[in-house]
Amino acid sequence: MTEFQTRGVSAGAGSGPAARRAGIGLVFLGPPGAGKGTLAKTLQARAGLRHISPGDILRQAVRDHTEYGRRALTFMRTGDLVPDEIVDAMMQAALAQAEDGSGWVLDGYPRTTAQADLLDGFLASRLGTLSAVVHFEIGEDILLRRLTGRRLCPICGAIYHVDYRPPRSAGRCDLDGAELVARRDDAPDTALHRFRVFHAQTAPLIDHYRCRGLLLTVNAEQSTEDLYDVIWEAVRPPRATPLP
Ligand code: ADP
Repeated sequence: MTEFQTRGVSAGAGSGPAARRAGIGLVFLGPPGAGKGTLAKTLQARAGLRHISPGDILRQAVRDHTEYGRRALTFMRTGDLVPDEIVDAMMQAALAQAEDGSGWVLDGYPRTTAQADLLDGFLASRLGTLSAVVHFEIGEDILLRRLTGRRLCPICGAIYHVDYRPPRSAGRCDLDGAELVARRDDAPDTALHRFRVFHAQTAPLIDHYRCRGLLLTVNAEQSTEDLYDVIWEAVRPPRATPLP
């Protein structure tokens, strides 16, 4: 965690829920299955940060049979990145909603240096400061086990794992009782391809953000609870110092 120098969090933030999250902007960077989505959803529920996931947005577009969804599906099926032209248009719309001053977590964006450049433009013109880029570090053997056992709720998007995070009732979402599904791109061959895509196209961003003093590397093999504490402790606004 020594690489992480810049907080970029407004020092004047108070202690209420809105103030606690104000000004926090995070990017989650890591291979598929590292737990980015689970952590982002936890930060949304507990700290009020807005969770923005291009993967979720794209899957919704596929379910809605939009033109973008139809074009994106070809790439998502094979585990390749969806072309920037589609992702950029969707992210422009999603990021515009994050301009309301509440904090945000980008889970899976940027994934290429071109996307990082676009994000920089967006930050400068509208979104404000990037507090940190959280780099999820994890061994590949664990990743494959996590992906093949991962299950999702098709209704609310809650994430489970058959062994590590099982629902209370087998195969059913705790929140709405819907039947859980496996993501098609979590099948072993496609998952392996996604790792390769991560190493080839996204991993260069680790150095890109390290050089800017924004990288917060965390051990993603620990529990969601521990990971949450580590990340929140690093990025939360400083507590007000009591008057003497
Ligand atoms: P994971 O992080 O586990 O790979 P996501 O749900 O974030 O899963 O992404 C699923 C798929 O959506 C990716 O394999 C890719 O096809 C597409 N996708 C998500 N984010 C991006 C992005 N920033 N740029 C291009 N394609 C993306």
